[in-house]
Amino acid sequence: MQEDAIPATSGCSSRVVSARSVLTRLRAFYDSQKTRSLDFRKEQLCALGCAIEVRESDILEALYEDLHKPRQEAYVSEVGFVLSDISYTLQRLARWARPRRRRGPLLAWPSRGLILPEPYGTVLIIGPWNYPFQLLLSPLVAAIAAGNCVCLKPSELAPATSAVVARMVLDTFSEDYITAAEGGPETAEELTNQGFDYIFFTGSIRVGRQVMEAAARHLTPVTLELGGKSPCIVCHDVDLTLAARRILWGKCMNAGQTCMAPDYVWVDALVEREFLTALGSVLNEFYGGAPRQSPDYGRIINRGHFDRLLGYLGQGRLVCGGEHEADGLFMAPTILADVSPSAPVMQEEIFGPILPVLRFNDIDEVLVSLKRRPKPLALYVFARNRAFQARILAETASGGVCVNDTMTQAFGKTLPFGGLGASGMGSYHGKAGFDCFTHYKSVLRRSTWPDLRFRYPPTRHSLATVKRFCRLFMRR
Ligand code: NAD
Repeated sequence: MQEDAIPATSGCSSRVVSARSVLTRLRAFYDSQKTRSLDFRKEQLCALGCAIEVRESDILEALYEDLHKPRQEAYVSEVGFVLSDISYTLQRLARWARPRRRRGPLLAWPSRGLILPEPYGTVLIIGPWNYPFQLLLSPLVAAIAAGNCVCLKPSELAPATSAVVARMVLDTFSEDYITAAEGGPETAEELTNQGFDYIFFTGSIRVGRQVMEAAARHLTPVTLELGGKSPCIVCHDVDLTLAARRILWGKCMNAGQTCMAPDYVWVDALVEREFLTALGSVLNEFYGGAPRQSPDYGRIINRGHFDRLLGYLGQGRLVCGGEHEADGLFMAPTILADVSPSAPVMQEEIFGPILPVLRFNDIDEVLVSLKRRPKPLALYVFARNRAFQARILAETASGGVCVNDTMTQAFGKTLPFGGLGASGMGSYHGKAGFDCFTHYKSVLRRSTWPDLRFRYPPTRHSLATVKRFCRLFMRR
């Protein structure tokens, strides 16, 4: 096989294409100008919506095969999520894509300014395994809406979903317009080296760094949707059962393998004991004391991650959970107390169903600790006291914040979703997704009359006159 050969849509055939030829074909299609038409984009979005609806059960089955995802959970967080993206986008696309008029600068009077939303061109979207459908298809919806040609690279660690997506893409779109390149890190690396016009990457910090390095060689702009440790702060004045329920809902979805899941909790020492009891009761309420038998609870993706998580279990006092079974890749939701802030479970992104609970006596301790850590994707605060909420909002940095709940900040279309610093750069969802894949091209249309001579050399005016002139004519 030639050096940059990659299996294209290997879920359905064994054809081999080169990463270079993928880009060449996409670029040729883009240059044909077809994607400039709004009707074309809308047709493609409708076709994608239909393709998803037709394959709904195959997709849910694949998600079950890869991650043991309960059907209802998979529908809400993957299939339904993308379908709602499509309908939201279709309703607003014409408005988003409209050129905007601006007044031209006085200095260039008479003139008219225009901002033209333009596609980047060819886009590479690389997805992770934890929401292998949503995190590939939701950016795809935005990229199509903005008028780009796309190569999708699904995660090799969710092979069943990868195959369904590849098949669906092949059956729905012209291969020169949207294509899926299945494969592992080598395939992804090969693709990132080609010089796409935009790279949208969701995954780990380590690989995000590699993607950005590869993109930098071509000066390709990137969006990086990365991970990290999203903290949760519980004040003494909240309804502790409600807080426990909402925190565990976020932690247990997809068995804790969610980028913005609450990673660990800081609870006010005044209510620590009560809160730990509430967590135990809520787990019982969710899974009846036997999460292994529950149809609502997922599994760990593979043995490597299972073993990594196993290593965390002894790093605190076991409050509840801890049961595990390597064969079935099962790990019960587990609460750890008395965890040392220097323990590995408090240093690395957990990405599994283990919830360390730390206590604080003074919120200043928490703020100092958060400032020392990399900026997380999300921060959760449970408090009734508005001043307490406001202080956390003002003194912490994170991709997003949700007050009195977890994860729901990412379910709507009106709030941009993304990280900063170690948790990523750029954002999407709703209009932010359209913006992410759009270059806003500024155009100034000048009249040829009058053509004032004063700006051309040789300079005939003193510096004082020029300064006066600037004050007058450079105000807008
Ligand atoms: P990963 O970084 O290991 O892999 C992600 C993708 O990158 C895969 O498709 C993989 O094939 C590809 N890849 C591997 N090596 C590459 C290279 N050298 N160049 C380009 N691409 C390469 O991540 P993962 O294990 O699949 O996902 C888990 C991580 O993703 C967690 O850290 C999680 O927090 C993060 N995540 C973030 C978000 C978000 O929206 N911010 C969402 C989900 C997951």
